[in-house]
Amino acid sequence: MKRDDLPPATGWTLARRAERMNPSVIRDLLKVTERPGIISFGGGLPSPRTFPVAAFAEACERVLRDDGPGALQYASSEGYGPLREAIAARLPWKVDPSQVLVTTGSQQGLDLVAKVMIDTGSRVLVETPTYLGALQAFAPMEPEAVGVASDGEGIDVADVARQRGDARFLYVLPNFQNPTGRTMSETRRQALVHVARATALPIVEDNPYGDLWFDAPPPAPLTARNPEGSIYLGSFSKVLAPGLRLGYIVAPAAVAPKLLQAKQAADLHSPSFNQRLVVEVLRDGFLDRHVPTIRALYKAQRDAMLAALQREMQDLDVRWNAPDGGMFLWVRLPAGMDAMALLPKAVERNVAYVPGSAFYAGEADHRTLRLSFVTASQEQIATGIAALATTIRENLPVRPC
Ligand code: PMP
Repeated sequence: MKRDDLPPATGWTLARRAERMNPSVIRDLLKVTERPGIISFGGGLPSPRTFPVAAFAEACERVLRDDGPGALQYASSEGYGPLREAIAARLPWKVDPSQVLVTTGSQQGLDLVAKVMIDTGSRVLVETPTYLGALQAFAPMEPEAVGVASDGEGIDVADVARQRGDARFLYVLPNFQNPTGRTMSETRRQALVHVARATALPIVEDNPYGDLWFDAPPPAPLTARNPEGSIYLGSFSKVLAPGLRLGYIVAPAAVAPKLLQAKQAADLHSPSFNQRLVVEVLRDGFLDRHVPTIRALYKAQRDAMLAALQREMQDLDVRWNAPDGGMFLWVRLPAGMDAMALLPKAVERNVAYVPGSAFYAGEADHRTLRLSFVTASQEQIATGIAALATTIRENLPVRPC
């Protein structure tokens, strides 16, 4: 038999953890919404209008001219020294550059934390709802992910204490959370740090959106208040460009060496070239000039969406929040409606969103959905929200008289 005539191999046995790897509901849904003509509030993409392309073009030239071979060579797993220094200098508490581990996006930070902190059956506390990508990163390690009660001010601290058990850590997004857009109040932060300290509960704080505030900066990070008890994840995706795939972890000495070893095994190091580019772009306080332009754009976008929701849905029993920063807002449909079931009908009317049920570790609230206000134009926001209102109106459950 010629080699090509062999029957296909049939002996693949996948690891148990592979069964835990589910396709991202969001990615699947969004495929439908890539159809031309659809106004999508579904994607979690930053606005490409904020990408500093010219600054990167110049930086590319400088990096290649000044140390091309270095930029194209393998490098240390910890990250490029000057980038680690720049990251440490920007953080609002005292961080030594040696504590900074550069990661391939903060998504890799979540993956490394999962590998280092979770055994099969380990209890892990998360907000309700929480970032789907974190649930995905944790899932292969087979944790028992427990959703802690949360409201518009963030996580319910009394419930953290109740659910603490033998949890390995609490994963929390205090600023402009994905998916809800909510921000944890100062009072809650103080109370949470108190409970975390009192019960020795490690906190994994994810903060990719913290710089994108609209009117006032959010309260100080949890890690700043309790650095020995927290792992902090940051990212350049929302303030520069997600395609760089650059983020970072700041971890206490008790876990940092293991995160570094996990990083070595995962990808040796994050791209040397990109790390140098970011150092070049950040020179002379670039972010201090650039980030305010993102804030201004996103604030105008949020206002456009809030105005459209108010205009189109005030007569409906629909609730939404007004986030103080970030990219998302959170909507709750009238009683008896299901955002997942409604989505195909919305897509027929050329508008899309992400059903909230994807973001829950435990029982989901099927009435919820996430809207991104940053990628659609303000005109599209007006049209899309009107279409969504029509879809809701047409599908209101019939109430018994
Ligand atoms: N954490 C949260 C809460 C996010 O929303 C995202 C991006 N959607 C990430 C982490 C991952 O971001 P990146 O890997 O691009 O830094």
